[in-house]
Amino acid sequence: MIRRFRASFVVLALVGLSACGSPQAGSHPSLGLDPDGPEQRLNTLTALDERVARVAWRLSEANVDLCPVVRQSAGWALHSAGQYSPELRPFSEQRFGLDGDQPGVLAAPAGSPADRAGLRPGDRVISVNARPLAVGDRRRAAQYEGLAANLALLDAALAAGPATLEVIRDGQTLHTRVTPVRACGYDVQLNPSDELNARADGRRLFISTALAGFAQSDDELALILGHELAHNVLGHRSWAETGGEGRTVVDPNCDPRLCGDGNHERQADRVGLYLMARAGYDPSAAAPFWRRFAASNWRVRYPSLAHASAGVRATRLEAVQAEIEAKRAAGQPIRP
Ligand SMILES: [Zn+2]
Repeated sequence: MIRRFRASFVVLALVGLSACGSPQAGSHPSLGLDPDGPEQRLNTLTALDERVARVAWRLSEANVDLCPVVRQSAGWALHSAGQYSPELRPFSEQRFGLDGDQPGVLAAPAGSPADRAGLRPGDRVISVNARPLAVGDRRRAAQYEGLAANLALLDAALAAGPATLEVIRDGQTLHTRVTPVRACGYDVQLNPSDELNARADGRRLFISTALAGFAQSDDELALILGHELAHNVLGHRSWAETGGEGRTVVDPNCDPRLCGDGNHERQADRVGLYLMARAGYDPSAAAPFWRRFAASNWRVRYPSLAHASAGVRATRLEAVQAEIEAKRAAGQPIRP
């Protein structure tokens, strides 16, 4: 999944993470960085970005036959200096070799077309099929439009087949050819927030930095993103319905009988577990995740509801896990 979301993500990053504090701030004291400083915040964001990109790519590639929206994808996550606030921008330029609106590789998940093409974090793409990608105005306030225009050129080139990229790495110019593959066509957006939340809107998946940070493993992150991907696979919310605003369709703290359509939540829990299993993640992570979530959070926001709700979900997910394991043992395809 190409991640275009860096727009809202990084543009909001200063407000979000500086206001609430990073949940992982101070977790790397050996680095000797100010735990609340911009460099540490950039490190925290980048670590979450890489995890989300890696898991999203595997889900997207493994479930392409179930996704109603499909595209030719390089599997990378891209960002630009222009997306970062003036405070974070110098660090982003230094660390990632970014320049203006030109797309830099933030993540090239293992096995993705970007990885197979030899691309790696820190590479900056300056042209596609000999067409230059604009740098734009380097002094501008943080914005997304410049990168979005460059991403549109990359997407158009990939939609037509293999594309030749000109890349700057450590000051040297390289050429590489990316051969895209079909994958689910949903962008994934990591939103700076201390709310433990995720949602889907028919076109994108959203996860908060707090919830991504709460996930202790890629299996747990795949559980969350798989649930949201399931909402899109099942067509629960269309882009038109949400008006592009990404109506909240899941609040993991909320009793599904009271938050939206409980039947939709049950369906997305079930199908989401299949989606994560098909991507090679361990569905036995689901029930313990929900129980841990309930134990650590139910008092915080929904004291009378969430504890029971998470327990019910955990029990239902154990039944789905058994269903998946039975199919696997019988040599049947893992299809919901
Ligand atoms: Zn849901």
